[in-house]
Amino acid sequence: MASLFTKIHQGEIPGEIIYQDDVCFALKDIHPQAPHHYLIIPIQEIKSIADAQDSDKEILGHLLLVARDLAKRLLPGRGYRLVTNIGEEAGQTVFHLHIHLLGGREMQWPPG
Ligand code: 5GP
Repeated sequence: MASLFTKIHQGEIPGEIIYQDDVCFALKDIHPQAPHHYLIIPIQEIKSIADAQDSDKEILGHLLLVARDLAKRLLPGRGYRLVTNIGEEAGQTVFHLHIHLLGGREMQWPPG
């Protein structure tokens, strides 16, 4: 069965896609945790980093570079945070790999 994010990508479920190419897409998070909160998601349904294969190297690198470019465009000159949760214990709720891009406010460390 297609993941929630795949359904949004395919237009079956509404969602605000702010970027897409032939490898990934970026979506506005429905429950933003910062003024800017986007999810960068590979089209391929990799469950999490823990399930990624060595052969997914290009996809994984691509996600980070897309995050960089989105931040450059949407948060010029600002700091931002990239996060990916792996497994329920770490807070993952959607089991289709995604990188959170959070920005537009002061961040705290350590994260909760
Ligand atoms: P996780 O908890 O797996 O790291 O992140 C999942 C993210 O997906 C959460 O930040 C959550 O707010 C977001 N999310 C869950 N359902 C939807 C949805 O239907 N649409 C959008 N745009 N984001 C969603």
